[in-house]
Amino acid sequence: MKKQLEQLSAYEPGLSPEALKNKYGIERELFKLASNENLYGPTPKVKEAIEQHLDELYYYPESGSPGLRKVLSEHLNVDESRILFGAGLDEVILMISRAVLTPGDKIVTSEATFGQYYHNAIVESADVVQVPLKDGGFDLEGILQSIDEHTALVWLCNPNNPTGTYFNHETLFHFLERVPSHIPVLIDEAYVEFVTAKDFPDTLKLQETFDNAFLLRTFSKAYGLAGLRVGYVVASADAIEKWNIIRPPFNVTRLSEYAAIAALEDQAYLNEITQKYAEEREKFYAIPQSEHFLPSQTNFIFVKTTNSKALYDELLEVGCITRPFPTGVRITIGFPEQNQKMIEVLQNFNY
Ligand SMILES: *Cc1c(COP(=O)(O)O)cnc(C)c1O
Repeated sequence: MKKQLEQLSAYEPGLSPEALKNKYGIERELFKLASNENLYGPTPKVKEAIEQHLDELYYYPESGSPGLRKVLSEHLNVDESRILFGAGLDEVILMISRAVLTPGDKIVTSEATFGQYYHNAIVESADVVQVPLKDGGFDLEGILQSIDEHTALVWLCNPNNPTGTYFNHETLFHFLERVPSHIPVLIDEAYVEFVTAKDFPDTLKLQETFDNAFLLRTFSKAYGLAGLRVGYVVASADAIEKWNIIRPPFNVTRLSEYAAIAALEDQAYLNEITQKYAEEREKFYAIPQSEHFLPSQTNFIFVKTTNSKALYDELLEVGCITRPFPTGVRITIGFPEQNQKMIEVLQNFNY
């Protein structure tokens, strides 16, 4: 076994609604608001697309997802050679780490960010530098200062999970200007569709200036396809060509590819959903107790408290399964009914 596996443990999912009901003897319906899924689900066109292709299950998928590649390349206006798909963004992160990192390399990222950057770096015997948060968000200046000759990858998450915070276009531009151009900067935008801030980075545009600015996105969150596993990276054609060597030949399933095409083609549905989330998000920030929340551009909110266990329990009491962290609780925004209940808890909680 690789020795470094002793430093890691397998991913621990939160308890399912069923398991929690049994554990706490809860009768009423529970809503899983712990993993930032879109509760409205994908456009109904996805179901139609899957039904149309149900008789093809015995065929392998088309390697490299050419159908989805074509539609996505037109949607983003980038060349097909610059896109690589994974079975979820998780697999993209794994493939990049595997392709790039060798023992003695370093990755630089933030503390309190998506855990897979760290996890995959350790598996590849790389060292991890986690720069402390600044004002609850990524400290790009701190990250810049931590880059040295051993740095092989820089991982940014924007907006960040689990904090919900973001950095703007100008900040990212100024950062990229100063990162040595041979170091890939991976920018994870898993929640970009939920963003309403006008100054959020146009990362596709920045890629025209910076060859080492790479963009990662997923169909799991706003597109509502977490169960089907499709994510991707937009990078230089050279990097994609190399990373593609790592890709398992049939990683994205047939049905997932058709589903993602259908989801991408229904932008009207996506807009409707993200608008609903933006409206619901506002309701949380309208209460005075929102001074305890980090600002969010996503479909979740990080509530700061030294007593996260108590807050988690109170939210569970009203039927909402959230995600506790040592410094607070991350709440995925749900349907208006659950949000109202959570807001009432947050109005009365002793932070
Ligand atoms: C959910 C999430 C991912 C993983 O997405 P999948 O496509 O479901 O694997 C990656 N990065 C961030 C920041 C996420 O929140």
